[in-house]
Amino acid sequence: MPSASRVFAELSTSRRPTDPRPIMGRAVVLGASMAGLLAARVLSDHADEVVVIERDASDTGYEPRPGVPQGSQVHALLPAGQVQLERWLPGFAEEVIAAGAVVPQESGTRMYINDALMPPPPRIEGSGVALVTTRPFLEAMVRRRVTAIDNIRIVHGRAEGVIFTGDRATGVRYLPTDESADAAPVTQTADLVVDAMGRSSRLSDWLEENGWDRPPLRRMPIKLNYATAMFRRDERISDVGVVVSQTRPAEDRVARIAGINSVEGDRWIMLISGYADDRPSRDPADFAARCRRDFPSVFGDIAEQAEMLGDVITYHQADSRRREFHELTRFPAGLVAIGDAVASFNPVYGQGMTSAALHASCLSAYLRGEPRLDEPAREYFEKVRVIVDAAWQVSTIADLALPHVDGPYPRGYKLVSKLGDMVLAMSATDPEMNRRMSLVTTMLAHPSSLGRPSTLLRAIRLRLVSGLRRRPATAAG
Ligand SMILES: Cc1cc2nc3c(=O)[nH]c(=O)nc-3n(C[C@H](O)[C@H](O)[C@H](O)COP(=O)(O)OP(=O)(O)OC[C@H]3O[C@@H](n4cnc5c(N)ncnc54)[C@H](O)[C@@H]3O)c2cc1C
Repeated sequence: MPSASRVFAELSTSRRPTDPRPIMGRAVVLGASMAGLLAARVLSDHADEVVVIERDASDTGYEPRPGVPQGSQVHALLPAGQVQLERWLPGFAEEVIAAGAVVPQESGTRMYINDALMPPPPRIEGSGVALVTTRPFLEAMVRRRVTAIDNIRIVHGRAEGVIFTGDRATGVRYLPTDESADAAPVTQTADLVVDAMGRSSRLSDWLEENGWDRPPLRRMPIKLNYATAMFRRDERISDVGVVVSQTRPAEDRVARIAGINSVEGDRWIMLISGYADDRPSRDPADFAARCRRDFPSVFGDIAEQAEMLGDVITYHQADSRRREFHELTRFPAGLVAIGDAVASFNPVYGQGMTSAALHASCLSAYLRGEPRLDEPAREYFEKVRVIVDAAWQVSTIADLALPHVDGPYPRGYKLVSKLGDMVLAMSATDPEMNRRMSLVTTMLAHPSSLGRPSTLLRAIRLRLVSGLRRRPATAAG
Protein backbone atom coordinates (compact mmCIF):
# COMPACT_ATOMS: atom_id res chain seq x y z
CA MET A 1 0.00 0.00 0.00
CA PRO A 2 1.51 3.39 -0.95
CA SER A 3 1.57 5.97 1.85
CA ALA A 4 -1.20 8.56 2.17
CA SER A 5 1.22 11.36 1.27
CA ARG A 6 2.25 9.53 -1.91
CA VAL A 7 -1.38 8.95 -2.95
CA PHE A 8 -2.11 12.60 -2.16
CA ALA A 9 0.83 13.71 -4.34
CA GLU A 10 -0.35 11.53 -7.24
CA LEU A 11 -3.90 12.87 -7.00
CA SER A 12 -2.69 16.48 -6.81
CA THR A 13 -0.87 16.25 -10.13
CA SER A 14 -1.28 19.02 -12.69
CA ARG A 15 -0.64 16.52 -15.53
CA ARG A 16 -3.57 16.28 -17.91
CA PRO A 17 -4.87 12.84 -18.83
CA THR A 18 -4.03 12.31 -22.48
CA ASP A 19 -6.76 10.26 -24.11
CA PRO A 20 -10.46 9.57 -23.48
CA ARG A 21 -11.09 5.98 -22.40
CA PRO A 22 -14.82 5.19 -22.61
CA ILE A 23 -15.84 2.32 -20.35
CA MET A 24 -19.56 2.96 -19.94
CA GLY A 25 -22.62 4.11 -21.81
CA ARG A 26 -24.23 6.70 -19.54
CA ALA A 27 -23.16 8.35 -16.29
CA VAL A 28 -25.66 10.40 -14.29
CA VAL A 29 -24.46 13.12 -11.93
CA LEU A 30 -26.86 14.55 -9.31
CA GLY A 31 -26.09 18.23 -8.68
CA ALA A 32 -24.39 20.75 -10.99
CA SER A 33 -22.33 22.76 -8.56
CA MET A 34 -18.52 22.65 -8.31
CA ALA A 35 -18.26 18.93 -7.51
CA GLY A 36 -20.93 17.81 -9.99
CA LEU A 37 -19.55 19.90 -12.84
CA LEU A 38 -15.99 18.68 -12.31
CA ALA A 39 -17.22 15.08 -12.01
CA ALA A 40 -19.03 15.54 -15.33
CA ARG A 41 -15.83 16.84 -16.93
CA VAL A 42 -13.91 13.76 -15.76
CA LEU A 43 -16.72 11.41 -16.80
CA SER A 44 -16.86 12.89 -20.29
CA ASP A 45 -13.60 10.97 -20.93
CA HIS A 46 -15.10 7.65 -19.83
CA ALA A 47 -18.80 7.64 -20.74
CA ASP A 48 -20.58 7.95 -24.08
CA GLU A 49 -23.00 10.34 -22.43
CA VAL A 50 -23.04 12.32 -19.15
CA VAL A 51 -26.37 13.60 -17.83
CA VAL A 52 -26.22 16.11 -14.97
CA ILE A 53 -29.45 16.60 -13.03
CA GLU A 54 -29.69 19.93 -11.21
CA ARG A 55 -32.74 21.33 -9.43
CA ASP A 56 -31.80 25.01 -9.96
CA ALA A 57 -32.09 26.73 -13.30
CA SER A 58 -28.59 27.33 -14.65
CA ASP A 59 -29.40 30.66 -16.24
CA THR A 60 -28.90 32.67 -13.05
CA GLY A 61 -25.88 34.36 -14.62
CA TYR A 62 -23.46 35.40 -11.91
CA GLU A 63 -26.06 35.61 -9.15
CA PRO A 64 -26.27 33.32 -6.10
CA ARG A 65 -28.88 30.57 -6.42
CA PRO A 66 -31.06 28.71 -3.89
CA GLY A 67 -29.33 25.32 -4.26
CA VAL A 68 -26.00 26.83 -3.13
CA PRO A 69 -27.10 29.05 -0.21
CA GLN A 70 -23.47 29.64 0.82
CA GLY A 71 -22.82 31.20 -2.59
CA SER A 72 -23.33 34.77 -1.31
CA GLN A 73 -20.48 34.37 1.17
CA VAL A 74 -16.81 35.03 0.46
CA HIS A 75 -15.21 32.07 -1.32
CA ALA A 76 -11.45 31.77 -1.79
CA LEU A 77 -10.03 29.20 -4.18
CA LEU A 78 -6.88 27.61 -2.77
CA PRO A 79 -3.88 27.15 -5.10
CA ALA A 80 -4.38 23.36 -5.25
CA GLY A 81 -7.93 23.95 -6.48
CA GLN A 82 -6.63 26.30 -9.09
CA VAL A 83 -4.15 23.69 -10.29
CA GLN A 84 -6.97 21.16 -10.66
CA LEU A 85 -9.30 23.58 -12.47
CA GLU A 86 -6.54 24.34 -14.93
CA ARG A 87 -5.86 20.64 -15.30
CA TRP A 88 -9.45 19.79 -16.22
CA LEU A 89 -10.28 23.00 -18.06
CA PRO A 90 -7.03 24.15 -19.74
CA GLY A 91 -6.81 27.93 -20.14
CA PHE A 92 -9.38 28.42 -17.35
CA ALA A 93 -7.45 31.06 -15.38
CA GLU A 94 -6.87 33.18 -18.47
CA GLU A 95 -10.55 32.98 -19.35
CA VAL A 96 -11.70 33.94 -15.86
CA ILE A 97 -9.36 36.90 -15.78
CA ALA A 98 -10.52 38.01 -19.23
CA ALA A 99 -14.10 37.84 -17.95
CA GLY A 100 -13.32 40.24 -15.08
CA ALA A 101 -11.65 38.39 -12.19
CA VAL A 102 -9.27 40.65 -10.30
CA VAL A 103 -5.64 39.56 -10.12
CA PRO A 104 -4.42 40.53 -6.65
CA GLN A 105 -1.26 42.63 -6.51
CA GLU A 106 1.28 42.08 -3.75
CA SER A 107 0.98 45.73 -2.71
CA GLY A 108 -2.74 45.36 -2.05
CA THR A 109 -2.49 42.02 -0.24
CA ARG A 110 -2.47 42.08 3.56
CA MET A 111 -2.48 39.30 6.10
CA TYR A 112 -3.05 40.11 9.79
CA ILE A 113 -2.67 37.67 12.63
CA ASN A 114 -3.88 38.91 16.01
CA ASP A 115 -3.95 42.41 14.50
CA ALA A 116 -0.26 42.32 13.52
CA LEU A 117 0.56 42.75 9.84
CA MET A 118 2.44 39.67 8.61
CA PRO A 119 5.00 39.37 5.81
CA PRO A 120 3.35 38.73 2.41
CA PRO A 121 2.47 35.06 1.83
CA PRO A 122 5.20 33.19 -0.10
CA ARG A 123 4.82 32.85 -3.85
CA ILE A 124 4.15 29.17 -4.47
CA GLU A 125 5.73 27.80 -7.59
CA GLY A 126 3.37 26.15 -10.07
CA SER A 127 0.12 27.42 -8.52
CA GLY A 128 -0.47 30.07 -11.20
CA VAL A 129 -2.15 33.43 -10.78
CA ALA A 130 -4.58 33.64 -7.85
CA LEU A 131 -8.20 33.79 -9.01
CA VAL A 132 -10.25 36.09 -6.80
CA THR A 133 -13.93 36.12 -7.68
CA THR A 134 -17.35 35.69 -6.16
CA ARG A 135 -18.49 32.11 -5.86
CA PRO A 136 -21.36 32.34 -8.41
CA PHE A 137 -18.99 33.89 -10.98
CA LEU A 138 -16.41 31.12 -10.58
CA GLU A 139 -19.08 28.42 -10.77
CA ALA A 140 -20.66 30.02 -13.85
CA MET A 141 -17.26 30.01 -15.58
CA VAL A 142 -16.79 26.31 -14.77
CA ARG A 143 -20.34 25.57 -15.96
CA ARG A 144 -19.74 27.40 -19.23
CA ARG A 145 -16.69 25.27 -20.01
CA VAL A 146 -18.21 21.98 -18.88
CA THR A 147 -21.50 22.38 -20.73
CA ALA A 148 -19.57 23.16 -23.92
CA ILE A 149 -18.33 19.54 -23.92
CA ASP A 150 -20.26 17.55 -26.55
CA ASN A 151 -21.30 14.54 -24.51
CA ILE A 152 -22.44 16.44 -21.38
CA ARG A 153 -25.96 17.78 -20.91
CA ILE A 154 -27.67 19.40 -17.93
CA VAL A 155 -31.27 18.52 -17.16
CA HIS A 156 -33.40 20.57 -14.75
CA GLY A 157 -34.92 18.33 -12.16
CA ARG A 158 -34.96 17.42 -8.50
CA ALA A 159 -33.47 13.99 -7.86
CA GLU A 160 -35.84 11.93 -5.75
CA GLY A 161 -34.06 8.62 -5.45
CA VAL A 162 -31.52 6.15 -6.77
CA ILE A 163 -32.84 3.00 -8.44
CA PHE A 164 -31.18 -0.22 -7.26
CA THR A 165 -31.32 -3.52 -9.13
CA GLY A 166 -29.75 -6.43 -7.27
CA ASP A 167 -26.33 -5.33 -5.98
CA ARG A 168 -26.02 -2.18 -8.01
CA ALA A 169 -27.37 1.27 -8.72
CA THR A 170 -28.90 1.25 -12.17
CA GLY A 171 -30.43 4.70 -12.44
CA VAL A 172 -32.13 7.64 -10.77
CA ARG A 173 -35.59 9.06 -10.41
CA TYR A 174 -36.13 12.79 -10.73
CA LEU A 175 -38.89 15.32 -10.98
CA PRO A 176 -38.41 17.77 -13.86
CA THR A 177 -38.41 21.33 -12.50
CA ASP A 178 -38.49 23.40 -15.65
CA GLU A 179 -41.78 22.04 -16.91
CA SER A 180 -45.28 22.24 -15.43
CA ALA A 181 -45.50 21.89 -11.63
CA ASP A 182 -47.36 18.57 -11.87
CA ALA A 183 -44.79 16.89 -14.12
CA ALA A 184 -44.48 13.17 -13.44
CA PRO A 185 -41.21 11.68 -12.10
CA VAL A 186 -38.78 10.54 -14.78
CA THR A 187 -36.48 7.54 -14.64
CA GLN A 188 -33.00 7.79 -16.09
CA THR A 189 -30.91 4.64 -16.36
CA ALA A 190 -27.17 4.85 -15.66
CA ASP A 191 -24.03 2.73 -15.56
CA LEU A 192 -22.65 5.02 -12.87
CA VAL A 193 -24.52 7.40 -10.54
CA VAL A 194 -22.59 10.23 -8.88
CA ASP A 195 -24.01 12.00 -5.81
CA ALA A 196 -22.87 15.64 -5.93
CA MET A 197 -25.84 17.05 -3.98
CA GLY A 198 -23.75 18.77 -1.34
CA ARG A 199 -23.67 18.43 2.43
CA SER A 200 -27.46 17.96 2.72
CA SER A 201 -27.48 15.10 0.22
CA ARG A 202 -30.21 12.54 0.89
CA LEU A 203 -28.22 9.63 -0.47
CA SER A 204 -27.84 8.07 3.02
CA ASP A 205 -31.66 8.00 3.40
CA TRP A 206 -32.08 6.48 -0.04
CA LEU A 207 -29.51 3.79 0.72
CA GLU A 208 -31.28 2.91 3.97
CA GLU A 209 -34.73 2.89 2.37
CA ASN A 210 -33.42 0.32 -0.09
CA GLY A 211 -31.91 -2.03 2.49
CA TRP A 212 -28.32 -0.73 2.41
CA ASP A 213 -26.38 0.72 5.35
CA ARG A 214 -25.97 4.46 5.80
CA PRO A 215 -22.37 5.60 5.72
CA PRO A 216 -21.28 6.51 9.29
CA LEU A 217 -21.51 10.29 9.78
CA ARG A 218 -18.77 11.99 11.81
CA ARG A 219 -19.34 15.54 12.96
CA MET A 220 -17.31 18.18 14.73
CA PRO A 221 -19.52 20.99 16.10
CA ILE A 222 -17.98 24.35 15.18
CA LYS A 223 -20.94 26.80 15.49
CA LEU A 224 -19.55 29.22 12.92
CA ASN A 225 -21.35 32.49 12.11
CA TYR A 226 -20.60 34.38 8.90
CA ALA A 227 -21.82 37.77 7.66
CA THR A 228 -20.91 39.09 4.23
CA ALA A 229 -21.57 42.40 2.49
CA MET A 230 -20.68 43.74 -0.93
CA PHE A 231 -19.31 47.26 -1.48
CA ARG A 232 -18.48 49.40 -4.48
CA ARG A 233 -14.70 49.55 -4.71
CA ASP A 234 -13.29 53.01 -4.15
CA GLU A 235 -9.56 53.75 -4.38
CA ARG A 236 -10.06 56.90 -2.33
CA ILE A 237 -10.92 54.75 0.66
CA SER A 238 -8.33 52.02 0.20
CA ASP A 239 -6.22 50.26 -2.43
CA VAL A 240 -6.55 46.81 -0.82
CA GLY A 241 -7.16 43.79 -3.04
CA VAL A 242 -7.08 40.81 -0.67
CA VAL A 243 -7.07 41.14 3.12
CA VAL A 244 -7.28 38.34 5.66
CA SER A 245 -7.45 38.98 9.38
CA GLN A 246 -7.28 36.11 11.78
CA THR A 247 -7.45 36.36 15.56
CA ARG A 248 -6.42 33.18 17.29
CA PRO A 249 -8.08 32.21 20.55
CA ALA A 250 -6.27 33.08 23.79
CA GLU A 251 -7.29 34.04 27.30
CA ASP A 252 -7.69 37.69 26.32
CA ARG A 253 -8.71 37.13 22.69
CA VAL A 254 -11.76 35.79 20.89
CA ALA A 255 -11.23 33.73 17.70
CA ARG A 256 -12.50 35.52 14.61
CA ILE A 257 -11.70 35.64 10.93
CA ALA A 258 -12.48 38.37 8.45
CA GLY A 259 -11.61 38.98 4.83
CA ILE A 260 -11.89 41.41 1.98
CA ASN A 261 -11.61 40.39 -1.67
CA SER A 262 -11.66 42.63 -4.72
CA VAL A 263 -13.95 40.86 -7.11
CA GLU A 264 -15.37 41.22 -10.61
CA GLY A 265 -17.58 44.24 -11.21
CA ASP A 266 -15.25 46.63 -9.36
CA ARG A 267 -16.52 45.53 -5.97
CA TRP A 268 -15.20 44.46 -2.60
CA ILE A 269 -16.80 41.51 -0.90
CA MET A 270 -16.24 41.61 2.85
CA LEU A 271 -16.72 38.86 5.39
CA ILE A 272 -16.73 38.99 9.16
CA SER A 273 -17.30 36.02 11.41
CA GLY A 274 -17.56 34.76 14.95
CA TYR A 275 -18.14 31.51 16.80
CA ALA A 276 -20.90 30.28 19.10
CA ASP A 277 -22.71 33.30 20.64
CA ASP A 278 -20.51 35.78 18.78
CA ARG A 279 -23.00 36.24 15.97
CA PRO A 280 -22.94 39.13 13.47
CA SER A 281 -26.46 40.16 12.48
CA ARG A 282 -27.97 41.37 9.19
CA ASP A 283 -28.08 44.93 10.48
CA PRO A 284 -25.67 47.11 8.44
CA ALA A 285 -24.96 49.25 11.52
CA ASP A 286 -23.94 46.15 13.51
CA PHE A 287 -21.78 45.03 10.57
CA ALA A 288 -19.95 48.37 10.43
CA ALA A 289 -19.57 48.54 14.22
CA ARG A 290 -18.04 45.05 14.34
CA CYS A 291 -15.70 45.89 11.45
CA ARG A 292 -14.43 48.93 13.35
CA ARG A 293 -14.23 47.23 16.75
CA ASP A 294 -12.96 43.71 15.98
CA PHE A 295 -10.72 43.97 12.92
CA PRO A 296 -7.88 46.07 11.42
CA SER A 297 -8.87 49.62 10.45
CA VAL A 298 -9.31 48.93 6.72
CA PHE A 299 -12.43 46.88 7.56
CA GLY A 300 -14.01 49.79 9.41
CA ASP A 301 -12.95 52.28 6.72
CA ILE A 302 -14.64 50.34 3.94
CA ALA A 303 -17.74 49.42 5.96
CA GLU A 304 -18.28 53.05 7.05
CA GLN A 305 -17.34 54.89 3.87
CA ALA A 306 -17.92 52.67 0.82
CA GLU A 307 -21.33 52.25 -0.80
CA MET A 308 -22.92 48.99 0.33
CA LEU A 309 -24.47 47.07 -2.56
CA GLY A 310 -27.41 44.98 -1.39
CA ASP A 311 -27.89 43.52 2.08
CA VAL A 312 -25.69 41.97 4.73
CA ILE A 313 -26.15 38.22 4.33
CA THR A 314 -25.55 35.86 7.24
CA TYR A 315 -24.83 32.14 7.30
CA HIS A 316 -24.53 29.69 10.17
CA GLN A 317 -22.67 26.40 9.88
CA ALA A 318 -23.17 24.11 12.86
CA ASP A 319 -20.52 21.51 12.13
CA SER A 320 -17.82 20.03 9.95
CA ARG A 321 -18.97 16.61 8.80
CA ARG A 322 -17.81 13.61 6.83
CA ARG A 323 -19.54 10.51 5.59
CA GLU A 324 -17.31 7.46 5.87
CA PHE A 325 -18.26 5.56 2.71
CA HIS A 326 -14.98 3.64 2.84
CA GLU A 327 -16.05 1.97 6.11
CA LEU A 328 -19.13 0.29 4.62
CA THR A 329 -18.75 -3.45 4.14
CA ARG A 330 -21.83 -3.63 1.88
CA PHE A 331 -22.21 -0.98 -0.76
CA PRO A 332 -23.89 -1.06 -4.18
CA ALA A 333 -21.85 -1.05 -7.37
CA GLY A 334 -22.33 1.80 -9.84
CA LEU A 335 -22.55 4.52 -7.19
CA VAL A 336 -20.10 7.12 -5.87
CA ALA A 337 -20.31 10.44 -3.99
CA ILE A 338 -18.17 13.54 -4.43
CA GLY A 339 -17.53 16.96 -2.87
CA ASP A 340 -19.53 18.13 0.14
CA ALA A 341 -21.75 15.06 -0.19
CA VAL A 342 -18.73 13.22 1.27
CA ALA A 343 -17.23 15.86 3.56
CA SER A 344 -17.56 19.54 4.35
CA PHE A 345 -15.28 21.50 6.63
CA ASN A 346 -15.13 24.73 8.56
CA PRO A 347 -15.23 27.17 5.61
CA VAL A 348 -12.71 29.59 7.12
CA TYR A 349 -9.93 27.36 5.78
CA GLY A 350 -11.30 27.57 2.23
CA GLN A 351 -10.92 23.84 1.55
CA GLY A 352 -14.33 22.96 0.08
CA MET A 353 -14.04 23.68 -3.63
CA THR A 354 -10.45 22.45 -3.71
CA SER A 355 -11.47 19.20 -2.03
CA ALA A 356 -14.22 18.78 -4.62
CA ALA A 357 -11.66 19.29 -7.40
CA LEU A 358 -9.31 16.75 -5.82
CA HIS A 359 -12.20 14.28 -5.52
CA ALA A 360 -12.67 14.70 -9.26
CA SER A 361 -9.03 13.72 -9.60
CA CYS A 362 -9.82 10.59 -7.50
CA LEU A 363 -12.65 9.76 -9.89
CA SER A 364 -10.33 10.10 -12.85
CA ALA A 365 -7.64 7.91 -11.26
CA TYR A 366 -10.27 5.29 -10.43
CA LEU A 367 -11.80 5.24 -13.93
CA ARG A 368 -8.41 5.26 -15.66
CA GLY A 369 -7.69 2.03 -13.77
CA GLU A 370 -10.56 0.57 -15.89
CA PRO A 371 -12.42 -0.81 -12.87
CA ARG A 372 -15.22 -3.36 -12.92
CA LEU A 373 -18.35 -1.25 -12.71
CA ASP A 374 -20.34 -4.24 -11.45
CA GLU A 375 -18.38 -4.06 -8.19
CA PRO A 376 -18.51 -1.36 -5.46
CA ALA A 377 -16.12 1.53 -6.16
CA ARG A 378 -13.91 0.80 -3.16
CA GLU A 379 -10.70 2.05 -4.79
CA TYR A 380 -12.44 5.37 -5.45
CA PHE A 381 -13.59 5.79 -1.86
CA GLU A 382 -10.11 4.87 -0.55
CA LYS A 383 -8.60 7.65 -2.65
CA VAL A 384 -11.26 10.14 -1.54
CA ARG A 385 -10.53 9.19 2.06
CA VAL A 386 -6.90 10.34 1.63
CA ILE A 387 -8.07 13.78 0.48
CA VAL A 388 -10.74 14.04 3.18
CA ASP A 389 -8.32 12.93 5.93
CA ALA A 390 -5.81 15.57 4.86
CA ALA A 391 -8.33 18.43 4.84
CA TRP A 392 -10.02 17.18 8.01
CA GLN A 393 -6.72 17.01 9.87
CA VAL A 394 -5.78 20.60 9.03
CA SER A 395 -9.20 22.07 9.81
CA THR A 396 -10.16 20.06 12.88
CA ILE A 397 -6.77 20.38 14.63
CA ALA A 398 -7.13 24.15 14.29
CA ASP A 399 -10.79 24.05 15.39
CA LEU A 400 -9.98 22.04 18.50
CA ALA A 401 -8.05 25.08 19.76
CA LEU A 402 -11.37 27.00 19.91
CA PRO A 403 -12.69 27.12 23.48
CA HIS A 404 -16.24 26.03 22.54
CA VAL A 405 -15.04 22.99 20.53
CA ASP A 406 -14.50 19.99 22.78
CA GLY A 407 -13.95 17.09 20.44
CA PRO A 408 -14.05 14.55 19.12
CA TYR A 409 -10.25 14.47 19.51
CA PRO A 410 -8.31 12.40 16.96
CA ARG A 411 -5.72 9.87 18.10
CA GLY A 412 -2.37 11.54 18.89
CA TYR A 413 -4.06 14.96 19.03
CA LYS A 414 -1.85 16.42 21.79
CA LEU A 415 1.42 15.62 20.04
CA VAL A 416 0.19 16.69 16.58
CA SER A 417 -1.20 19.97 17.89
CA LYS A 418 2.02 20.72 19.85
CA LEU A 419 4.14 20.10 16.76
CA GLY A 420 1.69 22.10 14.65
CA ASP A 421 1.88 25.06 17.06
CA MET A 422 5.66 25.00 16.95
CA VAL A 423 5.78 24.91 13.13
CA LEU A 424 3.15 27.67 12.97
CA ALA A 425 5.02 29.89 15.40
CA MET A 426 8.28 29.46 13.50
CA SER A 427 6.60 30.07 10.14
CA ALA A 428 5.83 33.65 11.26
CA THR A 429 9.56 34.49 11.17
CA ASP A 430 11.23 31.91 8.93
CA PRO A 431 10.39 32.12 5.19
CA GLU A 432 11.20 28.44 4.56
CA MET A 433 8.90 27.29 7.37
CA ASN A 434 6.27 29.69 6.07
CA ARG A 435 6.57 28.08 2.63
CA ARG A 436 6.25 24.54 4.00
CA MET A 437 3.27 25.51 6.13
CA SER A 438 1.60 27.29 3.19
CA LEU A 439 1.97 24.21 0.98
CA VAL A 440 -0.13 22.30 3.49
CA THR A 441 -2.75 24.99 4.20
CA THR A 442 -3.22 25.55 0.46
CA MET A 443 -3.64 21.77 -0.02
CA LEU A 444 -0.61 21.50 -2.32
CA ALA A 445 1.09 19.13 0.13
CA HIS A 446 -0.07 16.45 2.53
CA PRO A 447 -0.05 17.50 6.22
CA SER A 448 2.38 14.69 7.05
CA SER A 449 5.05 16.73 5.24
CA LEU A 450 5.16 18.96 8.35
CA GLY A 451 6.06 15.94 10.46
CA ARG A 452 9.13 15.12 8.34
CA PRO A 453 12.38 15.10 10.36
CA SER A 454 13.86 17.92 8.25
CA THR A 455 10.90 20.20 9.07
CA LEU A 456 10.79 19.29 12.76
CA LEU A 457 14.54 19.71 13.18
CA ARG A 458 14.37 23.09 11.50
CA ALA A 459 11.51 24.16 13.78
CA ILE A 460 13.35 22.97 16.91
CA ARG A 461 16.59 24.72 15.83
CA LEU A 462 14.72 27.96 15.11
CA ARG A 463 12.99 27.79 18.45
CA LEU A 464 16.24 27.27 20.28
CA VAL A 465 17.83 30.18 18.46
CA SER A 466 14.87 32.49 19.10
CA GLY A 467 14.81 31.37 22.78
CA LEU A 468 18.50 32.22 23.15
CA ARG A 469 17.94 35.61 21.53
CA ARG A 470 15.10 36.38 23.93
CA ARG A 471 17.03 35.36 27.07
CA PRO A 472 18.22 38.34 29.15
CA ALA A 473 22.01 38.94 29.16
CA THR A 474 22.39 38.06 32.87
CA ALA A 475 20.63 34.75 32.45
CA ALA A 476 22.69 33.96 29.34
CA GLY A 477 25.72 34.31 31.55
C1 LIG B 1 -20.20 30.08 4.49
C2 LIG B 1 -19.35 29.21 3.59
C3 LIG B 1 -18.19 29.72 3.04
C4 LIG B 1 -17.39 28.92 2.23
N1 LIG B 1 -16.21 29.41 1.76
C5 LIG B 1 -15.43 28.64 0.99
C6 LIG B 1 -14.20 29.11 0.49
O1 LIG B 1 -13.76 30.23 0.79
N2 LIG B 1 -13.48 28.30 -0.33
C7 LIG B 1 -13.91 27.04 -0.65
O2 LIG B 1 -13.23 26.34 -1.40
N3 LIG B 1 -15.05 26.56 -0.17
C8 LIG B 1 -15.81 27.30 0.64
N4 LIG B 1 -16.99 26.80 1.13
C9 LIG B 1 -17.35 25.42 0.81
C10 LIG B 1 -17.97 25.31 -0.58
O3 LIG B 1 -19.09 26.16 -0.68
C11 LIG B 1 -18.36 23.86 -0.84
O4 LIG B 1 -17.34 23.01 -0.43
C12 LIG B 1 -18.66 23.59 -2.29
O5 LIG B 1 -19.70 24.38 -2.74
C13 LIG B 1 -19.00 22.12 -2.48
O6 LIG B 1 -19.50 21.91 -3.75
P1 LIG B 1 -20.52 20.72 -4.02
O7 LIG B 1 -20.74 20.73 -5.48
O8 LIG B 1 -20.04 19.49 -3.38
O9 LIG B 1 -21.85 21.10 -3.23
P2 LIG B 1 -22.79 22.36 -3.34
O10 LIG B 1 -22.05 23.53 -3.83
O11 LIG B 1 -23.50 22.49 -2.05
O12 LIG B 1 -23.85 21.99 -4.48
C14 LIG B 1 -24.83 20.99 -4.37
C15 LIG B 1 -25.65 21.03 -5.66
O13 LIG B 1 -26.59 19.96 -5.67
C16 LIG B 1 -27.84 20.47 -6.07
N5 LIG B 1 -28.86 19.59 -5.49
C17 LIG B 1 -29.08 19.34 -4.17
N6 LIG B 1 -30.08 18.46 -4.02
C18 LIG B 1 -30.49 18.14 -5.27
C19 LIG B 1 -31.49 17.27 -5.77
N7 LIG B 1 -32.28 16.55 -4.97
N8 LIG B 1 -31.63 17.17 -7.11
C20 LIG B 1 -30.84 17.89 -7.95
N9 LIG B 1 -29.89 18.73 -7.53
C21 LIG B 1 -29.72 18.85 -6.21
C22 LIG B 1 -27.86 21.89 -5.53
O14 LIG B 1 -28.82 22.69 -6.18
C23 LIG B 1 -26.44 22.32 -5.83
O15 LIG B 1 -26.30 22.79 -7.14
C24 LIG B 1 -17.78 27.58 1.95
C25 LIG B 1 -18.95 27.07 2.51
C26 LIG B 1 -19.71 27.87 3.33
C27 LIG B 1 -20.94 27.28 3.97
